[in-house]
Amino acid sequence: MQKPEKFVCAGCTLLCDDIEIDTRADDRRPKNTCTLGNRYFAQPTPPTQTHLIDGTAATLEQAVKAAAELLRKSKSPLICGLDHLSTEAQQATWKIADIAGATVDTTLTNSGRSSLFSLQKIGKVTATLGEIKSRSDLVVFWFCDPEITHPRLLERINSKTPDRLHRIIVVDDRETATTKLANRFIKVPRENAAELLVHVRNQIAQHGNTQALKSELDTLSAIENTANGLVKELVNAQYGSIFFGQVTKHSRFDLAGDSMARLIRSLNDVTRFVSLKLRSDKNAQSAENVLAWSSGFPFAVNHNLGYPRQNGLEFSAESMLGRRQCDAILHASHLSETELVEQLPASARAHFQVIPRIAFSTQTTAANVHFQMGIPGINESGEHCRMDNVSMPLKKLHPDDWIPAETILDKIRQELIAHSQI
Ligand code: SF4
Repeated sequence: MQKPEKFVCAGCTLLCDDIEIDTRADDRRPKNTCTLGNRYFAQPTPPTQTHLIDGTAATLEQAVKAAAELLRKSKSPLICGLDHLSTEAQQATWKIADIAGATVDTTLTNSGRSSLFSLQKIGKVTATLGEIKSRSDLVVFWFCDPEITHPRLLERINSKTPDRLHRIIVVDDRETATTKLANRFIKVPRENAAELLVHVRNQIAQHGNTQALKSELDTLSAIENTANGLVKELVNAQYGSIFFGQVTKHSRFDLAGDSMARLIRSLNDVTRFVSLKLRSDKNAQSAENVLAWSSGFPFAVNHNLGYPRQNGLEFSAESMLGRRQCDAILHASHLSETELVEQLPASARAHFQVIPRIAFSTQTTAANVHFQMGIPGINESGEHCRMDNVSMPLKKLHPDDWIPAETILDKIRQELIAHSQI
């Protein structure tokens, strides 16, 4: 009997690659998925791919010409939403940005960028999920709830051998689905997260100086005592892993994020520790890689002067829209029109809604030129980056004649080049 085919689930950034689906059977329900994955594979997909110009159906060639025309007329085009595209399509968008003198950004909003700034300032010590699974004896979840956001994470990193099961600690401000599975739950108010990390680092710096620690123990404040309990767990690990979420909403300066990166460095003076961000921003990790390889900068890159420039969040999509510094936008998204604009602050939202738009979307949009995209792993193939920066090839569940986004983007690029040579 033929075995069911294996697929990759793109329901979260864990990209589980052991999903079995019998493509020859009438019942194509996936096996090995979690509830989130089941919902992902149950998404309805339209039977045919349609492209629109001002709401009217058009051929692909007409839509490509209209999109190229909009980009040509624009003095300052913005390209964003790369997090919703495959790695191949992200490469194509960067090439368009280079030719069109556009600003290109990974996501539409500034949120969740602080870990990138921490990486640039402090660096990171990290590992793949496979390494964490085979080496870690302690796993800490820092203000994140993978049982809800990445439901198969614990299963994926848990060794099958009982004597190699790791100890789990959750640090959070409330009980969650993950705290129920933890060996220890440390409750800390979210606003004290950065302070706790500072105390943990201070105490690790004194590690080994037992005399100094003993003399201080009686005078410790409540938060220092919590830090003390956590330090004992951390330094006793042979190989520890910390998974962390975004603690503060701030997109530029995140003390907790910076402190986490510094803590991992300090812990590596005493034992071996790695960290991994529980990303929920779809294929943004790959978009950062693509932009960094191509331009030298991982996000918010401006090509107005004919070469790539970056200055923090100055050229981010949200900032460019908020300051009304772009006059056309090409964006990709799997979100509905309402979900998309709701992410933006009022000033950026208002500008987004009035400038000419080219949309690559799985949903209906009111864009001037609309290209229908497939859902990754269902009716669109392509490389996607797992949360630990491992590239995973997604294949289509429904083989059809849908034209992938990277092919359409490449046609737009060729149209731009052809016109510039006339
Ligand atoms: S954990 Fe994420 S990738 Fe894995 S099956 Fe569930 S939704 Fe899909």
